[in-house]
Amino acid sequence: MEVWQKEIVNALLLFLAVVIIGAFTGFFLPLLLLLTLYLLSRQIYQINRFENWIKTGGRGKYPKASGVWEEIYYHVYRIKKNERRRKKKLSKIIDQFRQSTEALPDAAVVLGDNEEIQWINKAARDVLGLQQTDRGQRIPNLIRFPEFIQFLKVKNYNEVVFLPSPVNKRINLEVRIVKYGAGLRLLLAKDVTQVQKIENMRKDFVANVSHELRTPLTVLRGYLETLQDMDEGDSPLLTTSLVQMQGQTDRMQHLVDDLLLLTRLETQQKKAECVDVPRLLNQICTEVDALGHSTNRLKLTLQTDVHIMGNEQELRSAFTNLVNNALKYSPEQSAVKIVWLASEEEVILEVVDEGEGLASTDIPRVTERFYRVEVNRSKKVSGTGLGLAIVKHVLMRHDGHLQITSELGKGSRFSCCFPKKRICT
Ligand code: ADP
Repeated sequence: MEVWQKEIVNALLLFLAVVIIGAFTGFFLPLLLLLTLYLLSRQIYQINRFENWIKTGGRGKYPKASGVWEEIYYHVYRIKKNERRRKKKLSKIIDQFRQSTEALPDAAVVLGDNEEIQWINKAARDVLGLQQTDRGQRIPNLIRFPEFIQFLKVKNYNEVVFLPSPVNKRINLEVRIVKYGAGLRLLLAKDVTQVQKIENMRKDFVANVSHELRTPLTVLRGYLETLQDMDEGDSPLLTTSLVQMQGQTDRMQHLVDDLLLLTRLETQQKKAECVDVPRLLNQICTEVDALGHSTNRLKLTLQTDVHIMGNEQELRSAFTNLVNNALKYSPEQSAVKIVWLASEEEVILEVVDEGEGLASTDIPRVTERFYRVEVNRSKKVSGTGLGLAIVKHVLMRHDGHLQITSELGKGSRFSCCFPKKRICT
C-alpha cells in the first residue's frame, strides 16, 4: 500500500472510532469536530516544521516525521543533496578552468559588450600591464596604440594586429579577438618577438644570398657566351655541354631574379599610382607575342576600361607570370583568354587556358614557394616554382586575392580579384 493510501485508511479508522464512540455516548458531533481539529492542527504543525527546515537551507538530516511527511522530507533532502554535489563539481571545473587560463603563456582578457574588461589572466597582467583593479574599465582607455583602437573599431575578427607590449617595447605581440557567448569577446595576445626575429633573419638571408649570387652568375654567363662564340663545332660534346650550361645558368638567373623580387615585395614600402590596366595588358600581350612564345594564342578581351590604384611594375610581373604559365602548361595550339572585367564587388583579371589543369589537392599549394606540381610533369617545362608566390604577394599588396578554378585535363582559370575601392577612373 502507498503511503498516501495508508494516511487515508488511518483517517477513516479514526472517523469510524468517532462514529462508534459517538453512537454509544451521544457526542458524535463534538467528537467529529475534535477529530477534524486534531487532523488539521497535525498538518499545520508538519507544514510549519517543513518550512523551518527549508528556511535554513534544508541542510543536514531532516527532522523525524512519519507517513507522507517522511516521504516529502526524504525526496527534498535527496534533491538538495544532488544539487550540492553538482554545484561542487561545477565550481571544481570552473576552478580548474581558471587555473589553466591563469597558467596560459598567452595573455587572455575577457571583454564585455562595451569593450570593458571582465577578467584577465596572469600573462595579461605581465605583458599588457593590466591590473585586477582595471576590471570594468574600457580596454581602449588603457591600451592606447592607434592601430589597436582602429582594430577594435573595425571589428574584423579574422584579422590580427601587431603591437609592441605596453610594458616592454622590445616584446612584439600578435593580438586577436575571438567572439563567444552572448556579446562576450576573448582578446588573446601572443608574444611573437622570437618568431618575427627568425622571419626577419630568413628574409635577410634570402635577400643576401640572392644578391651575392648575382655577380658570380654574371661572370659565368659572360665567360659562357665567350666560349660559345669561340666554339667552332669541332666537338659535339663541348657544344652540347655549353648549351646545357647556358640553360642551367639561365634557370639560376631566373631563380635569383624571382627571389629578389619576392624579397622586394616583402620588404619595400607600397607605392601606388593610377595604373591603366587595359594598356598594360595590351603591352604584355604584344611583348609575349614578340618573344615568339605564343604565336597568336593570346585572346585579350577588355570588358571594362577601368584603371586601378597600384604599382605598375608589380602588376606587370604578376600578370606576365599568369600569362606565361597559361601558355607553358597548355598544348601548343590552344588559346589563352585574358579578360579584364568588373563584377558587382570587384574588378577581375582572368587568365583562362585549355591546358592540363590542376588537381583539387594541388590548388591550395601552388602559391607556396618552390611548389611545382608533380615533378615529372613540370620537369618538361622550365620554371622556378616562385611565379605564383609572386602573384599572391603582389595581389596581397593590392588588397586583392587570387582565385583558382581548375580541373585536371580541362584547363584552368586564374582570377586576380581587386576590390572596387581600388578603381581610379
Ligand atoms: P613555375 O615556375 O613552376 O611555373 P609557378 O609558381 O608559376 O612556378 O607555378 C607553380 C606550379 O603550378 C607549376 O609548376 C605548375 O605545375 C602549376 N601551374 C601554374 N600555372 C598553371 C596552369 N595555368 N595550368 C596548370 N598548372 C599550372
